[in-house]
Amino acid sequence: MQFDVVTALPGIFQGPLRDGVLGRGIRDGVVTVRIHDLRRWGIGRHRIVDDTPYGGGGGMILRPEPFFEAVDWIEGQYPADRSLKVLLSPQGTPLSHGVGTRLAGYDRVVLLCGRYEGIDERVREGLADEELSIGDYVLTGGELPAMVVMDAVSRFVKGTLGRGEAAEADSFADGHLDSPYYTRPSEYRGMAVPEVLMSGNHKAISAWRGQAAHDATRSKRPDLLGRKDD
Ligand code: SAH
Repeated sequence: MQFDVVTALPGIFQGPLRDGVLGRGIRDGVVTVRIHDLRRWGIGRHRIVDDTPYGGGGGMILRPEPFFEAVDWIEGQYPADRSLKVLLSPQGTPLSHGVGTRLAGYDRVVLLCGRYEGIDERVREGLADEELSIGDYVLTGGELPAMVVMDAVSRFVKGTLGRGEAAEADSFADGHLDSPYYTRPSEYRGMAVPEVLMSGNHKAISAWRGQAAHDATRSKRPDLLGRKDD
């Protein structure tokens, strides 16, 4: 699985891509992430990537040409059979488990990050295949959303998670939340681990987890029960 990220702030990605499960996936060659500095396709000697909005108003808008040219270059340099261009935007389809598994089916996803007041609308109209949001709030840029998308999607790529870590058991995979977990000590500050988890009876443990997952969903996210994921 390959990700090509187009961003005006490439430095943001250094830490998150180095550590953790995604960092390991990159080192193992299961996931490839290339960060492209939008300024490389900036205009003129000063490599300008933004300008003031037509019609006035505060803030700056990212110009369309650097995005179109960046994607032309990426597609020429790194051809991919099944490739998807995603614009990160608070106005997009909300990211979900279902969207994540669907994106994991592509060979390559190009992630286009906005900044300031946003990106010239023609990038959405004429370049992006879809618009994705990570929630109903506005962030200062598309870099953290792009990181969130890469992290969430990579978990579904075979070989990213370690042995025993299965994305299928996690929350949202089958329409409900995961069960609670406990580790040592068996009792802490008066709070005991449920007896059954220490019983060694796998059938009973599995039944307890099923019930606990259902209870967690009913109390924390009742909206999930009976809902079909996209
Ligand atoms: N003026 C725009 C917001 C621009 S925020 C509006 O109100 O719709 C600047 C950039 O941050 C956006 O172009 C987008 O790439 C990114 N961004 C902000 N919030 C986001 C979210 N919830 N999901 C995905 N991207 C987001």
